[in-house]
Amino acid sequence: MPQGHVVCSGLVERIGEEMGRIIHKYDRDNEEKEIIIDEKIADHQEGLNLVADLLSHHEYGVITDVNEVKLVGHRIVHGGDRFHCVTRINKEVKEAIEELSNLAPLHNPANLTGIKTAEQVFPKATQVGVFDTAFHQSIPEVAFRYALPEKFYKENGIRLYGFHGTSHRYVSQKAAEFLGQDPKKTQLITLHLGNGASMTAIKNGRSIDTSLGMTTISGLVMGTRIGDIDPGVLIYMQEILGYNWKDVKRILNKESGLLGLSGDNDLRNISDRYLEGDERAILALSIYVYRIKKYIGAYIAAIGKVDAIVFTAGVGENSSLISELVCNNLEHLGISIDKEINNRRNGSERDLSDAKASIRTLVIPTNEELEIARQAFTLISEEK
Ligand code: AMP
Repeated sequence: MPQGHVVCSGLVERIGEEMGRIIHKYDRDNEEKEIIIDEKIADHQEGLNLVADLLSHHEYGVITDVNEVKLVGHRIVHGGDRFHCVTRINKEVKEAIEELSNLAPLHNPANLTGIKTAEQVFPKATQVGVFDTAFHQSIPEVAFRYALPEKFYKENGIRLYGFHGTSHRYVSQKAAEFLGQDPKKTQLITLHLGNGASMTAIKNGRSIDTSLGMTTISGLVMGTRIGDIDPGVLIYMQEILGYNWKDVKRILNKESGLLGLSGDNDLRNISDRYLEGDERAILALSIYVYRIKKYIGAYIAAIGKVDAIVFTAGVGENSSLISELVCNNLEHLGISIDKEINNRRNGSERDLSDAKASIRTLVIPTNEELEIARQAFTLISEEK
């Protein structure tokens, strides 16, 4: 930093399973090399210790000593309404992350483990937290409140918080740069379409509404998560069909979405089946796309004049079928893409719009790690 040049990257997978895997990519004379190590990794502590060994390894390493690491940036999923920006981690911040675990029981405890482990493995580094919810703290009350009795908000913190904020922020800034505009004067609808998916309405560079809410289930149809549903259905499933809340939770999170509709949660497979004329796949993708179109319409109404819609993440960056189906028949709103440009996919930032479009359609690859690194680096530089 500050150049943002990646000297090393990697992934630790299948922690706690019979056989784990570490993928370690490193820079050697401006060439990217990769090694893969398959071995049992008991827990996160062991995983991060192995990462530290690789970082300073005599052959594959990029530093000579782990104490050279000055800064560790953590992605923290839920910051509630306490964290509006990147934050230096201390005892109080760790306690707050723990307290917020009831809002994100799957994520915040794991994030805390990551912090505690990194403090031991990189004892000389400053630990910094970048919260997934922070970018959405600018959402006004009119959009973040649910129409529940007031006490559920005031006493229990039940409101929309939003997620994928690091990604929405990163691509919105990149999109403004791409358009040659000041981010603070740019109006965008960002579509983060991956395994999890969300859309954000961005006015003058700030998030004013987003499709994930208090939890990570609402809004768009996702790989295995349901997205928006009439809440009365959940009462019906329990009262009339006899499911308990644990069943309902599992069904909504793990068995619904594209998986529930088509039997598969990987959009690549469903797209292949769609093109072969498979009826379940056609219906699943049609529902997936229809939901996105409804949010585009809603967010145009919320924002006013929109400069661009921005596709990002696994599906958004790679699937020309989804961008084609989403933009199809939206000419009356000013969204219109060139099919040939859309079919020429590559890994770079690009504009899919045709000459008729008054709202541009962009593909901007997301880079949450770089955004976390930049925010952490800026915080530390400003504190000096
Ligand atoms: P992410 O969560 O951003 O890593 O996105 C993962 C998802 O992106 C996968 O589950 C795939 O469904 C989807 N994906 C990746 N590549 C493609 C592609 N070429 N076409 C369609 N979907 C893709």
